[in-house]
Amino acid sequence: MLLKGKVAVVTGGTRGIGFEIVRKYLANGARVVLFGSRQETVDKALAKLKEENADWEVEGMHPALTDAAEVEKAILSVKEKFGRIDILVNNAGISQSTPLYDYTPQEFDKVISLNVCALFYTILPTARIMKEQGGGCILNTSSMVSISGQPAGVGYPTSKFAVNGMTLSLARELAKDHIRVNAVAPGVTRTDMVASLPQQVVERISSTIPLGRPGEPEEVASAFLYLASDLASYVTGEVLSVDGACRA
Ligand code: NAD
Repeated sequence: MLLKGKVAVVTGGTRGIGFEIVRKYLANGARVVLFGSRQETVDKALAKLKEENADWEVEGMHPALTDAAEVEKAILSVKEKFGRIDILVNNAGISQSTPLYDYTPQEFDKVISLNVCALFYTILPTARIMKEQGGGCILNTSSMVSISGQPAGVGYPTSKFAVNGMTLSLARELAKDHIRVNAVAPGVTRTDMVASLPQQVVERISSTIPLGRPGEPEEVASAFLYLASDLASYVTGEVLSVDGACRA
């Protein structure tokens, strides 16, 4: 029970890596509010979690993450209901691989809005709450492409480099308020998107990964558990790769 009594907010918690973070946090004694993009998917995720363990304290909301005012309202309502926020996980994100010559400014803006601006919108009101309560932990989701870039879809690696920059900078700025700020950089992870690829494609991708296979969402979630827990009490400003060494 590494997170007993803690209150966590996890964005993009309805599926994939985010859903596994929510499960792991609940299994370790946290109370969790997951943010999703639609009521329908939020309800589905909550039903699945309650089916697994009816005692888990989990709720869901679907604020538009790219609307700063709506996000602030949602964060304040979590504080109102649970009295505090100990852990914020910024996991929601979109990726694409459009070649530069086909890219539109709108597409670029969309990726940056969700993958970068939305993090700032969740962090600002949450950090104020954490400062007032004496500390907390902020975790962002980066990617292996934040180290090497990627050969198409420039918005996505650009956004993840920005996530690292925000993480390292805020770790330094917020340390005096006892707020730790870290990121996890997953490699190819077997979420729905990867699982739905033809076996041949998965094998080709796997052959480029030193550990020889994609990561499981649960394996990425374990890094989020460690960093949120007191086991990582002296870890801040870290971008932890969970990628089978495929970043090189
Ligand atoms: P996913 O597509 O399975 O889940 C994404 C989550 O983000 C969903 O819960 C979705 O509801 C939410 N989301 C998407 N658009 C949203 C919006 N506009 N508003 C609110 N919520 C929105 O993705 P995943 O693979 O689990 O990825 C989670 C994070 O991990 C992302 O930040 C992604 O960039 C990162 N990541 C994933 C991989 C991978 O291989 N799967 C690798 C590196 C990094």
